[in-house]
Amino acid sequence: MTTTTRQTPEQLVAGLDVARFFSYFVPGLKLNGQLNAKCECPFCHGADKSFSLDQERGLFFCHRCNAKGSAWGFLKAQGYGVIQIESTLADYQTAGPIFTPATKTKTAPPGPIIATYDYHDEAGVLL
Ligand SMILES: [Zn+2]
Repeated sequence: MTTTTRQTPEQLVAGLDVARFFSYFVPGLKLNGQLNAKCECPFCHGADKSFSLDQERGLFFCHRCNAKGSAWGFLKAQGYGVIQIESTLADYQTAGPIFTPATKTKTAPPGPIIATYDYHDEAGVLL
């Protein structure tokens, strides 16, 4: 008989790529290679950059609405269920370079052109 042990919240966030995770969920967050980044809070939407992220400890804190916690707590506060939180954090555990700037799309950079095609409209005109 095998028993599957579920990871605790602490284990789930232990190997988390914090920069990548928060860059994705808090689009306004500009890390710029700094350990502590600030931006508008995604919870209270205070325009005074009240939301701060301590990348070293992986904790966020809002000086306005006092929202705080780890990545786990962040998803919980966003209304995620436990199963959703576990799968989401597992997705972000693959750590890349810490200070990679957030990219807006997940598309890979274009590769070399391997073939070109001519496209014609209904009238046969080359597009
Ligand atoms: Zn706030």
